[in-house]
Amino acid sequence: MSDADLPSLVTIEATLDGVERALERLRAGDYRRCAECGGPLEAADLERDPLVATCAAHRARG
Ligand SMILES: [Zn+2]
Repeated sequence: MSDADLPSLVTIEATLDGVERALERLRAGDYRRCAECGGPLEAADLERDPLVATCAAHRARG
């Protein structure tokens, strides 16, 4: 296996960062709330991506 087959360190660090933020929000009781507006997150969105942190409106804005 060459290095090119491995996920880049940047990708791993971004994923780890997302996990840490999700855990923080879980501990704070904000896991199901948008990090931007505090609105509720859709259960379907959390199922698709458990690390999702913002509601559909904020994700659409990028
Ligand atoms: Zn929002």
